[in-house]
Amino acid sequence: MRIGIVGCAGRMGRMVAQAVAAAEGCAIGAGTEIAGSPALGQDIGELAGIGSCGVRAVAEAARLFADSDTVIDFSSPAATLAHIKLAGETGKALIVGTTGLGAEHDKALAAAAKKAAIVKAANFSVGVNLALLLAEQAARTLDDDYDIEIVEMHHRHKVDAPSGTALSLGEAAAAGRRVALEKKSVRARDGHTGARKRGDIGFATLRGGDVVGDHTVIFAGDGERIEIGHKASSRAVFAQGAVRAALWTKGRQPGLYAMKDVLGFSA
Ligand code: NAD
Repeated sequence: MRIGIVGCAGRMGRMVAQAVAAAEGCAIGAGTEIAGSPALGQDIGELAGIGSCGVRAVAEAARLFADSDTVIDFSSPAATLAHIKLAGETGKALIVGTTGLGAEHDKALAAAAKKAAIVKAANFSVGVNLALLLAEQAARTLDDDYDIEIVEMHHRHKVDAPSGTALSLGEAAAAGRRVALEKKSVRARDGHTGARKRGDIGFATLRGGDVVGDHTVIFAGDGERIEIGHKASSRAVFAQGAVRAALWTKGRQPGLYAMKDVLGFSA
């Protein structure tokens, strides 16, 4: 399988290049960087620190799709919107890892998934996908006497908050409670907020240093607390998961899939 990498000089793009090179049955087909990037024209393997792979970074997304069987995208919401549309036009599989996506993306994803297999996950690690399942089960088992709070910490460069993974954990907990997250979520607290409302799902965001990604879902009751936590210590787990998802799309019917489909997890 020829894999195309969007943002091949980015933190995740370089990890994906390493994971593609290490995985059996796939090779780097192409890679793009944003117009004006000093990475353009450079060998993608060299950018990833694994030696030359003979494929150079280009700026044209159309070339990326032409030279790949599946495209992996960890870039920015604006770039990802264009790549979702291209997946729909070309029918090529797309793995979406970019976070901070909005309603416009959901609409484009629904349309593109009629023509192409698309796997979208806010987090491609096996551990976080297990934590999603456990958070849903715990929320289903424990009633509103247990207050749900989700705490996340990431490196100082992260631009969106709360993290996509924190929001996915919130969605999982809300699904367990059979409520809509947007009706229950409290994304920030400051000043005289009043007492916590029963059934709210709270979020707290920390930023600093080089933290790859820490998430904890807390179920706080009277006299006890249950915590479901995950700590990523290397971005490699996300890249390996994305490559696993890319290989899984081979021969797959068009549709919008989640990492739990790839891993065979079900609630
Ligand atoms: P980064 O800024 O290091 O890398 C993004 C790269 O994309 C940059 O090199 C940038 O130049 C490039 N880019 C931007 N627009 C482009 C375009 N139009 N064409 C080609 N390249 C373009 O960021 P990062 O830390 O690698 O994170 C990227 C995204 O992935 C973020 O949204 C982050 O939250 C997300 N992420 C998701 C997971 C997951 O498991 N789903 C894990 C880690 C990070």
